[in-house]
Amino acid sequence: MIEVFGEMSFYYIIFLWLGCAAYCAHIAKAKELNYIWWALGGLFFGVVALIAVSATPNGWQNTCPHCCLGVSGKATACPYCTREINPIK
Ligand SMILES: [Zn+2]
Repeated sequence: MIEVFGEMSFYYIIFLWLGCAAYCAHIAKAKELNYIWWALGGLFFGVVALIAVSATPNGWQNTCPHCCLGVSGKATACPYCTREINPIK
């Protein structure tokens, strides 16, 4: 009984771990961080990496001068108010 439970929880942990990696990558991509590294971080550190990526400030480098929301440094138009903005570089 204990052995069966142990095996089930093993697969559950593997599933949870992969989920952590995928979710880490998802958050990192949304924050414009290096999502490949965050996916690897999720694989190695699981929930810890998930907490870390949640706490990491996003990679937004530019702020829309019209609505003052954070946008990508590469954006030429604001995704919120659709007005033109100057990309960095
Ligand atoms: Zn805007």
